[in-house]
Amino acid sequence: MRYPLGFTMAQVRYRNRMAREGRQRYPMVLMLEPLYTCNLACIGCSVERHTGKLSDRLPLEKCLKAVDDCGAPIINLCGGEPTLYPELPQLIEQLIQRGRYIICCTNALKLDTKVFGVIPPHPQLFLMVHLDGMRETHDFVCNRKGVFDKAVAMLVEAKQRGYVTMVNTTVFKETSVEEVEEMCQLATRLKADGILLSPGYEYESVEADVFLTKDQIHEKFRAIRQFAHKYKINATPGFLDFAAGLTELPCAPWSTVNYTPNGWKAPCYLVGESFVDDWDTFWNETNWEYWESRLDRRCANCKMHSGFEHSAVEEQMRSLKGKLQLALWTVSK
Ligand code: SF4
Repeated sequence: MRYPLGFTMAQVRYRNRMAREGRQRYPMVLMLEPLYTCNLACIGCSVERHTGKLSDRLPLEKCLKAVDDCGAPIINLCGGEPTLYPELPQLIEQLIQRGRYIICCTNALKLDTKVFGVIPPHPQLFLMVHLDGMRETHDFVCNRKGVFDKAVAMLVEAKQRGYVTMVNTTVFKETSVEEVEEMCQLATRLKADGILLSPGYEYESVEADVFLTKDQIHEKFRAIRQFAHKYKINATPGFLDFAAGLTELPCAPWSTVNYTPNGWKAPCYLVGESFVDDWDTFWNETNWEYWESRLDRRCANCKMHSGFEHSAVEEQMRSLKGKLQLALWTVSK
């Protein structure tokens, strides 16, 4: 299975419920950022996401209210570095009790002290370790030597301890396609339960010239498509086609909503047009139609997984052929 069966079934049940309720737009993933504090300052990261004070973190109650208000079945814990969130054990325990699937996106530097022996492995908890390439590229992107080696060691230990592990790779300008395949081979040797590949995203606040233009994204992902079938890559074939420029899709920013220490970020993880504390205001007053259209200049080079994966799945579900392809892909690894 591409994903653990329970995870796939939770999504299917949720989608079916949304369809029965006649909802065209609904959140599938909550990107929950309990803090904007980080122990790294990666060159592709927006400045606010790694310079926040720990004292400005979200209280546990606010995190849980956001989870309950939006109802998404998948909670992507990011930030900031979620392992630095002092209330992480309680947060994860509460999310598991609520039946949510948790993807803890981490640079892995603190897994040995903040997670192992503190937060037990659970089928609803996935440790998603950032590996933006092999040693030289990853340490360059993370702006620190040794991060790659530590992340690999933590992936090995996490697996030995029984955690579900995944690798998250953002493809930047510096990343060669050969290196992406080398990385997939490494993740396979490390027995990672999945590999998420996505093109680097262009934050407004990042000046470093590391992002791909649309043409460069297409070129790299056309090559990546050639070998994707060999590995347990979690981006759907429809998303890879879109990343390769072979299809066009509307954006679905509402499918992956983002709650931050500054409130609900609208419209998406990348663009902070507004921040509001109240879910109803965020959901009802964001002009989703406008952002779906991708007409805003800030959407010009965006092929972000969180914006388009939902649209890719919806597109495949429109035809019998697409449904069969998706089903085959789901059970094929
Ligand atoms: S295209 Fe990208 S930047 Fe624009 S709304 Fe969608 S996810 Fe956000």
